[in-house]
Amino acid sequence: MKEQKEWNDIAGLNRLILKASWWMVIVIILLSGSGILLTYQYEGKSLLPMAVSYVLFPTLYTVMILALTQVLYSIFMRWGDYILLLGIFAILHVYIMNFPFAQGIHYLLVINVLISALYFQKEKVYFTGILSLLSIISLYFFYEPFSNEIARRDIYAFIGIFIGFVFISVGIIYRGHYLLKHLEESIRNQEDLMVRNIIMDRAAKMDGLTDLYNHKTFHEYLDRLIEQSDDNQLSFHLAIIDIDNFKKVNDQFGHWVGDVVLKRVGELLKQNVTPDDFVSRYGGEEFAVILTEKNKTESFQLVDHIRAAISQMVHPEMGDQPVTISVGMCPYEVGLGKENFFKAADDSLYQAKRNGKNQTVIAEIYDKEPV
Ligand code: GH3
Ligand code: MG
Ligand code: MG
Repeated sequence: MKEQKEWNDIAGLNRLILKASWWMVIVIILLSGSGILLTYQYEGKSLLPMAVSYVLFPTLYTVMILALTQVLYSIFMRWGDYILLLGIFAILHVYIMNFPFAQGIHYLLVINVLISALYFQKEKVYFTGILSLLSIISLYFFYEPFSNEIARRDIYAFIGIFIGFVFISVGIIYRGHYLLKHLEESIRNQEDLMVRNIIMDRAAKMDGLTDLYNHKTFHEYLDRLIEQSDDNQLSFHLAIIDIDNFKKVNDQFGHWVGDVVLKRVGELLKQNVTPDDFVSRYGGEEFAVILTEKNKTESFQLVDHIRAAISQMVHPEMGDQPVTISVGMCPYEVGLGKENFFKAADDSLYQAKRNGKNQTVIAEIYDKEPV
């Protein structure tokens, strides 16, 4: 996937280079055209032969080379980058060989090195660099119109400057790679940190044994809910659940069995409430459930259904015996306050215990309607 994207990026760069090359042809036509017009005006040379040799032919060669480059590029996609660089190299030579009298024209080859540096691969910079140097040296020795125009010391200067230029380009590429590596590393570190923060945040909010919300999160949630309820007249219910005779489970079967039972009860709670509800392990073998978006009857029925389900759930570790729970419930009425609310639910729980356990008792706060 990563390679695919990189490939797309380079293909995009190549398309851009091809497009820019066509624009370059237009600019060159305009430049060479205006050049011969000026020469015609000031030196009085005849226009047509000049236009043919300095505008028409170079333009024709350029268009032919560019068209050939484009065709070869689409056939040999695998070597596309090098085909493009060679195409531009050839076009630059059209001008170097046609205008050898233009001072410093051979420095045009710097364009090729610059374009190769766009790929951010040092091999390509070396490729265009070495190719250009060899070509200028060959032109100097074997192409008279060029050697007639250029002094030997200029060739030395060119070679020196050119080699310097190639090495600076390679240096920029190294620096770019280094920065990219650093950037990737810091992004990775940031991602690690984010994941660690999420894990830590979760660890602070959840109970390790049952994976339910913990005591602290329960209180935070309840505080917020009471605030909202007092502001917006929302009603909700609290159910405090306590496993009956749990000490006996530990004493008889061991604490690890107690832990298994706690987990199983927690799982059943989680799976039987609705997405609007909030289940937490209050502490020890006690759980606190907050039910919202339900009236008193619906809340009671849901909680009592859970109680019945737990009493029917068998535990192989306890010789297939069940455990039961007692539940104290209380509806929240606006203005009741957290302390009274919690105490009312707690009182109902003790009522359920006193009445013989394995039952749900709901507190009567203001209204006396039966559930
Ligand atoms: P009741 O019906 O009155 O609630 O009796 P009970 O035995 O359930 O109540 P009690 O408060 O006497 O005992 C609760 C026991 O729960 C004591 C403690 O060892 C056990 N307990 C609390 N937390 C854990 C836990 O994380 N794992 C295990 N295995 N046991 C726990
Ligand atoms: Mg208890
Ligand atoms: Mg208990």
